[in-house]
Amino acid sequence: ATADTGAPTIFDKIIAKEIPSSIVYEDEKVLAFRDINPQAPVHVLIIPKSRDGLTELGKAEQRHGEILGHLLYAAKIIAEKEGILDGFRVVINTGPMACQSVYHLHLHVLGGRQMKWPPG
Ligand code: 5GP
Repeated sequence: ATADTGAPTIFDKIIAKEIPSSIVYEDEKVLAFRDINPQAPVHVLIIPKSRDGLTELGKAEQRHGEILGHLLYAAKIIAEKEGILDGFRVVINTGPMACQSVYHLHLHVLGGRQMKWPPG
């Protein structure tokens, strides 16, 4: 996995719509789009439009509380829209040990198949 340099990421280009993505939900604060390499029938990424230091969850500060709550509630809205409220998983990989690859905080919303636990 790439180290966290704080440099712009591919997600900035997705927010700017300089590269295409399949957007499933958008409001003034967050953008949600389908993962390019889906790990389940539904695999959506939710990101803050303004990274504001949130390269990863492990860098969160108290001032990020509002956007963190907004992202988590957006996960429920998306699960409802995608028809997976009967069971879905929300994942945040943070840091190299957790296989984070893009250093712009993002929630994975996964569903549409039976999940396993532990994830490994
Ligand atoms: P991470 O491993 O950092 O938690 O997850 C990053 C995710 O971003 C991966 O699941 C990867 O497939 C996805 N991803 C990387 N580049 C792009 C892209 O250009 N478009 C989309 N839609 N997803 C991407």
